[in-house]
Amino acid sequence: MKLIPRIKNYLNNSEIDDRERLFMLLAGISLTGLVVAFFSGLFMGENFESLLFCAIAFVLFGVMTIIGFRIKKVVAISYITAFILIFVFMPLNFFSSGGIHGGAVIWGVFDIMYISLVLRGKARVVFLMLDFLASVVVFALYKLYPSLTLAHDEDTAFFDSAYSFIIVSAFLIVMVGFQNYLYRAENKKSREQKDEIDELNKAQNRFFSSMSHEIRTPINTIIGLNEMILREDISEEINEDATNIESASKLLLHLINDILDMSKFQSGQMTINPAAYHLSDMISDVVSMIWIRAKEKGLEFVVDVSPNLPAELYGDEMRIKQILINILNNAVKYTEHGSVTLTVHGEDQDGDINVVYSVTDTGMGIRKESIPYLFDAFKRVDEERTTMIEGTGLGLSIVKQFVDLMGGKISVDSVYTQGSTFSVEIPQQIVGDAKLGQLDKEKRTMGRRSAYHVKFEAPKAKVLVVDDTSANLLVVKKLLRDTKVQVTAVSSGDEALDMTLDTPYDIILMDHKMPGMDGITCFHRIRTQIGGLCHDTKVIALTANAGSDIAALYEREGFDGYLVKPVNSDVLEEMIMDNLPERLVTVLSTDNIEEKSRLWREEHRVKAAVEVVTISMADLPKDILEKHSINTIPVEVQTDKGIFRDKVDISTMDLLEYMGHDEKKAKVLPLSQDKYIEAFSEGLGRARNVIFIPMSANITNSSYSIALEAAKSFDNVIVIDPGQLSSGQGLVALEAARLAETGASIEEIIAGVETKKKLIQTSFIVDDMKYLARAEHVTVHAVELTKAFMVRPVIYMKNGNTRPRGVCFGSRKRAWRRYIKTTLKHVDKIDTSLLFITYVGLNKEQLDTIKAEVEKIIHFDDVRTQEASPAVSIDCGPGTFGLIFSYLA
Ligand code: ADP
Repeated sequence: MKLIPRIKNYLNNSEIDDRERLFMLLAGISLTGLVVAFFSGLFMGENFESLLFCAIAFVLFGVMTIIGFRIKKVVAISYITAFILIFVFMPLNFFSSGGIHGGAVIWGVFDIMYISLVLRGKARVVFLMLDFLASVVVFALYKLYPSLTLAHDEDTAFFDSAYSFIIVSAFLIVMVGFQNYLYRAENKKSREQKDEIDELNKAQNRFFSSMSHEIRTPINTIIGLNEMILREDISEEINEDATNIESASKLLLHLINDILDMSKFQSGQMTINPAAYHLSDMISDVVSMIWIRAKEKGLEFVVDVSPNLPAELYGDEMRIKQILINILNNAVKYTEHGSVTLTVHGEDQDGDINVVYSVTDTGMGIRKESIPYLFDAFKRVDEERTTMIEGTGLGLSIVKQFVDLMGGKISVDSVYTQGSTFSVEIPQQIVGDAKLGQLDKEKRTMGRRSAYHVKFEAPKAKVLVVDDTSANLLVVKKLLRDTKVQVTAVSSGDEALDMTLDTPYDIILMDHKMPGMDGITCFHRIRTQIGGLCHDTKVIALTANAGSDIAALYEREGFDGYLVKPVNSDVLEEMIMDNLPERLVTVLSTDNIEEKSRLWREEHRVKAAVEVVTISMADLPKDILEKHSINTIPVEVQTDKGIFRDKVDISTMDLLEYMGHDEKKAKVLPLSQDKYIEAFSEGLGRARNVIFIPMSANITNSSYSIALEAAKSFDNVIVIDPGQLSSGQGLVALEAARLAETGASIEEIIAGVETKKKLIQTSFIVDDMKYLARAEHVTVHAVELTKAFMVRPVIYMKNGNTRPRGVCFGSRKRAWRRYIKTTLKHVDKIDTSLLFITYVGLNKEQLDTIKAEVEKIIHFDDVRTQEASPAVSIDCGPGTFGLIFSYLA
């Protein structure tokens, strides 16, 4: 091969690393440059040393490059070259050709460009630093020892500089130009790759959609004909086989649809096609599909729809149905006993609405460690228990992608072995002012009965079916047999046109994709057929393509409706019945509405948005708990006599009495994870979200981390560390409940609580430290000291921990006065709406004294004297009290 094309090929070869190619390019130019430099130097009368240097450089660099190229170690050679440039070429060139009066400085710039473009990563940084250091040394030597430099005369200096300038510029142009070229080539390549991937994706999508079309057609035949077998008077065994065929073919159909959806998502072609729809119709359709399955499994199916929802919404009805059917199907699938509940309600969203669908089941539940993987494609969790249940692991992944596409949210709360709740929130626009009201039961047809009964008869009605697949024609004919309508079947558009010329049909069922004339063309020709008798006949499209865009297509073309194959016999009958003139139809039976509508909840019950839960040690008065619907989990107190639930089985007085006797110990047991899970699921039974306020995480016996672990089972349980205890913790819970009452979002509540908790002041003055010593918070020695000096320690909360703030000397009264005064000293900053005086073992008189002392300093609108819970009093002992309040923001 010739040299130039070879070089070109080498430089264009993207399989070779680009810095290797750049190095080889530079090497080629440098060697040529050195030859030119040598001869021009000779011609210009350059000194012998410079010429010798040129010759040596040529030989050395040439040999090195050739060896490097041969043994494929070009990168290593580029490092060696950088090294030689810095430590040999640069100083030699500098001192041998006039120092700063020559081309050396310009070559210095070249060195830097070379290192920057040819080397990479750490090596580049190291070599740049070395170059900089070497340059400093060279310049310093030049200044300090001028005799080291071979001086140039004026002319040689001029030519050297000019020559170096030209050569180095040429180098730089080549280097930068080549880099640019590489960059552009890379860009072009990735564009081409992207186009290729897009094309592949499109091809894959085309493949999937035609495959789905092709597979649907035979399934259509299987399902349709099998349905006919099931309608016959057949033996038990055949019935069982046919039922199995039915469920297998339905599963296959489901799978095809899922794969089609997945491929659409992957190619970014899944779109949302919004239109106005009636919410009640949508819900009814969904319910009617699930109801029968639930019933077959002996599950109760409860539907609870808020009557305040708008009657008409704007959104992609079909996709929402798909989401709900998937989740409801799972609920039925993974539940053996109990019930499946669908609740629907709305939340205002600046004039629009967030429709919240929750599906709760009492089934097998999901392990909390599986929850994060639930929405992954092809992921089936808890496989040892679910292998016997049909499924592919695609459903929830598709659901999640639809929800995301519609700008909604999906969450899961589940307790393993107990059941799960899937909540989906979808923003929708509201159409008109009408409200849903109580669902109109008369309108509902809730699913197919287990035994088939024909809905209507219309012996005078004439129906024309056009489909190129004869099996499809057979299916439609047979499915309509019991309705006694007169069905004529033809297998092409041309045959259909012949028929419409002579016969005035009442309905035409028209297949879309047919060889020759397709359904849409045929439809338009029927409408305008000269002498035709079917200009106004209702025409229903038959299609094997499921997709939300097809509705729009057939509407645009002017069809009166469409049916997706495989045709469901109920839907087909309904479609025919709805489109036939009333005079031709005799209605035989409506579904047994009475029995079915029993399942619709009359009474309207909507879950609260948020419930605040805390523990019994939060020391909030009962009326406040009730007023703000705050729930408390009782902690457990362990004594020699057994384990008691705080405030439920044992009172503070009882416990103090017990502890007073014989110096007996009692301790608070951490709540188990199961207890938390139980409390959280109960909370989620009443509200859609639970906010749990435990005791400050930093306190030794706080079971904060256990609560956090338990909350992992639930997407809608939030644990917030209040950094407080006793009534301080209570105040944090109260703030969360108050914010929830204002309709604040979860994020707003969390932010509000985080701010509030820093403003709350919790402190206690302890009467007798022996209780703290017993709980091992202080040493016995400290107790003796405080007693001897008549001091009472003040303990307060800082950064979520209890800290001693100091001591109050003297008699009890004096110490209390001192404590009250110092605690309330920032009078102007205190929020005076509420004060808790939380105490252990004080009488009314003592409490009145405390109140009076407080009143002397500052007036609170509401002063609550609250007895500390037994669990709190274990650590403090009688005679302790605290002033707990909030500072102003
Ligand atoms: P599949 O086709 O396996 O049902 P999905 O994507 O719909 O696929 O669900 C993924 C996995 O999530 C299921 O295999 C099952 O383990 C679990 N799952 C979904 N819904 C529930 C539920 N209501 N109760 C318990 N497990 C469920």
